Order: sequence, then structure tokens, then C-alpha cells
Amino acid sequence: MDTALFHIALVEDEAAQRVLLVAYLEREGFRVSPLESARACEALLEDEPPDLLLLDLNLPDGDGMELARRLRRHSSLPIIMLTCRDTDADRIAGLELGADDYLAKPCHPRELVARVRNLLKRSIPPDEAVGGGCRVGRFLLDPVRGRFSCDDGAAPRLTPGEFALLCALAGAKGRAVSRWRLAEVIRRGEEPSSERTVDVLVSRLRRKIEANPANPALLLTVPGHGYRLAC
Ligand code: CA
Repeated sequence: MDTALFHIALVEDEAAQRVLLVAYLEREGFRVSPLESARACEALLEDEPPDLLLLDLNLPDGDGMELARRLRRHSSLPIIMLTCRDTDADRIAGLELGADDYLAKPCHPRELVARVRNLLKRSIPPDEAVGGGCRVGRFLLDPVRGRFSCDDGAAPRLTPGEFALLCALAGAKGRAVSRWRLAEVIRRGEEPSSERTVDVLVSRLRRKIEANPANPALLLTVPGHGYRLAC
């Protein structure tokens, strides 16, 4: 797993704790955005959505749980809650609100990194987000029925990998999806797919669906991160 491709947002108002956690994660090769408040976190989510959110429970301008609850209304972003309160009630409340995992502070660096990696592995964009079909330029993509059709004439034939990739991008509804996540989507069984395979599939898809593959208008590159579908 090439961690350099992952962008992690860390929301923690205590400076010493923040510096420590950033150091752990950067040592493992992750790209980290350190944030001090719920407001800063919401701004980042708008501008440059991360692949995973590490969220402190107690923040100066609000409660991490409240932020997680708001976020879950429209996003499937993986969230790990960080808290000093290590009680079952808090842990369960956090998970019920939509956090994917929970870590009590002070957390062991290796445990933190292991949890982050595990959660990233489990997280792929949900296909159900496009249930009923989704428009991609002059094409209609129907992930549930496995169909790809065209308004005027025959649609190009997509390979299973190309179709899965397009469904994952459509499921993100215009948001960027990292190359690593796309590699997970197209993997066959236990055999890992490389990010390079993703790039190859994207080139092939562009030749099939773009009017001008050299200057794509639908399947866009997000530099240093991955791809997104214009919608
Ligand atoms: Ca705090």
C-alpha cells in the first residue's frame, strides 16, 4: 500500500498531541493536514477532501461528535475518533454517529497507524450512491443493472475493470477518488492492482468516452491524488 497517496486530515486542538500524531503519520509516508478546530476541518473538507479523518472529540469550537454527525449526512468519508474519554458509552455513541473506529488517547503510534491503514483498506466508494443510474456526458451508467448506454447510437463496450472504475467515480458524485482506492475497486480477489493499472484503465476509458481524450472533459485528473468525474 503506497501511503504517500493518502491524505489524512487530523483535527486536534492540543498542539503537543497534534505535533506528535502528525510526526507518526508522516514517518509512515502519509500526507497530513493538521487542523485545530471544527471550522478549519469543514473548510478543508470543502477545498481538498482527505481520504480519512482523524477527529478529536473535544474541540474549542464544538464537539467532534457533532461534526461527525453533520458530515455523515452527506459523506462516507472514513472517520476515526480520538478521545481521552475511554468509556463504552462514548465509544458506542461515536460509532453510532457514523465514526468507523475509535482510539483512546494517548494512543500508541503503531496502533494508530495500523487502524488508519485498516480503515483505508476497508473504504471504497459505495456503489449504491448511484443506484438507478447516473449520467456521464452523453452516456448513462447503471451500476445496479451493469449497463452502459448512449443517448445516440451504440455505447462503447467497457471491460469489467473499466466499468467498475467508472462506477466508483460516479459513486463519489464529482469528488476526487484516490488512485489507491480505485486500485482497490478493480482488484481481482487477493491479487492487488497497482495505481499504474488505474492510470492505464483511465486512459482506455478516456479513449472510449471522451470527445477529445487528450483534453478530457469528463474523467478529470486530480494532480497528486487521483481522478474525478465531472458532473
Ligand atoms: Ca481536544
